[in-house]
Amino acid sequence: MVKFYNSLTRQKEEVPCHDNKVIKMYSCGPTVYYYPHIGNFRAYLFMDNIRRVLKYNGYTLDGVMNITDVGHMTSDADEGEDKMLVASQREHKSPWEVAKFYTDVFMNDAKKLNIDFPEHIVPATSVIKEMIDFVQALLDKGFAYETSKGIYFDIAKFPEYGRLSGMDINEKLAGARIDVDDEKRSPYDFVLWVKAPKEHIMQWESPWGMGYPGWHIECSVIGDKYLGEYIDIHTGGVDHKPVHHENEIAQSNCRYGHQVVKMWMHLEFLQVDGGKMSKSLNNIYRLSDLEEKGFSAEDFRFFYFLAHYSKQQNFTFDALNMAKNTLKSIKNLVKEHKIGTTRVGTSHFEKMFLDSINDDLNMPKAIACVQQMLHEERSQDVYKTFLKFNEVLGLNLEDEQIPQNVKDLAEKRWQAKKERDFATADNLRQQISDLGYEVKDTKDGYSLSEK
Ligand code: AMP
Ligand code: ZN
Repeated sequence: MVKFYNSLTRQKEEVPCHDNKVIKMYSCGPTVYYYPHIGNFRAYLFMDNIRRVLKYNGYTLDGVMNITDVGHMTSDADEGEDKMLVASQREHKSPWEVAKFYTDVFMNDAKKLNIDFPEHIVPATSVIKEMIDFVQALLDKGFAYETSKGIYFDIAKFPEYGRLSGMDINEKLAGARIDVDDEKRSPYDFVLWVKAPKEHIMQWESPWGMGYPGWHIECSVIGDKYLGEYIDIHTGGVDHKPVHHENEIAQSNCRYGHQVVKMWMHLEFLQVDGGKMSKSLNNIYRLSDLEEKGFSAEDFRFFYFLAHYSKQQNFTFDALNMAKNTLKSIKNLVKEHKIGTTRVGTSHFEKMFLDSINDDLNMPKAIACVQQMLHEERSQDVYKTFLKFNEVLGLNLEDEQIPQNVKDLAEKRWQAKKERDFATADNLRQQISDLGYEVKDTKDGYSLSEK
């Protein structure tokens, strides 16, 4: 049984599957106004992790991720400017060009990380009509109201507001500052649709004049359009809990009159050098920054597995280096097992691995299990089991490109060894080593790997 921690009920629960066949999963996607950093990718590795673990357990997935290309203000609430417009001015490009550029950057990095993509990846601007219909439905049901600035959700109509993040909205309201917008019924009412001033670049026709959607509505609408009114799992970073996800719950549940999302899963943040990533500390790393320092995307993928998603993970280059070395030694052992001849029973490792991943994605424990198994006698049984585990890990096991001259030297050395010409064999080993490769004897031959 797969159990994940549900942020809404604050307990581990069996993973829901409303229609008994396919798990419907929604993941909040990137706002494509700038380069994604490694913290963002922790969120998508988390999504990948859930997807692969569910598939490993035999589930079929129907997953959706949005691409925010309109409406996300510089604050998660409705204040500030639309991030897309800020980027458009900064880069002297249209918001659509900005969105295309950063969506491509995001997808390329995500591919390098071998992220298992959701079945549908949907830009917010592709569902404007559906957003208008959704907002209209909320107005018709009395959950929203119109002001001179836009259409707002009336949180007083949804007494459960705040349940996810554990806030008592009445208490908050009592101590709230007076909202600058006196047309709003409550300071916590949030915008569903913004009436745009003439000069606003991104705007569409609507029953309320020209305008553009608020940020939160896109996730309710895309979830509704692609998954329907029963969604099993919804993922996102912890930063989304207090505003974005509370608002999404309010919109969707009021639209349908029942709970739409069953299980909410939240990922804790990646820290850098023990603190928040920040421009002033110059420590907002992208994948390309890691690559420039000699790390691969896969090293970062493996680094993700070394901390539980519900805990903050501290990124340092030393820690990444340790992950890189561990990954290298795992891959070398896997190669040795590939040609091993001993018979080794692996069922207890399979059980341990499955128990770990099914216990709320305990990847550190699953990795410890993998390492323990790889220290068994070299055996193709272990290799085959590892391949199975790798459906979850998603590591690239293709032979690295070992140059032909290195392969030739290794072959010559093997011949010399067989002929008991150990002086030549040692000399060849040294030549191989000088070229940056390592040859290791195994029971039935040798393995060759990068040092
Ligand atoms: P954004 O593109 O700003 O909407 O963020 C995309 C995703 O990255 C969201 O799910 C955030 O919760 C997540 N995120 C942002 N910063 C971090 C971080 N430092 N660690 C983990 N996740 C993050
Ligand atoms: Zn969202």
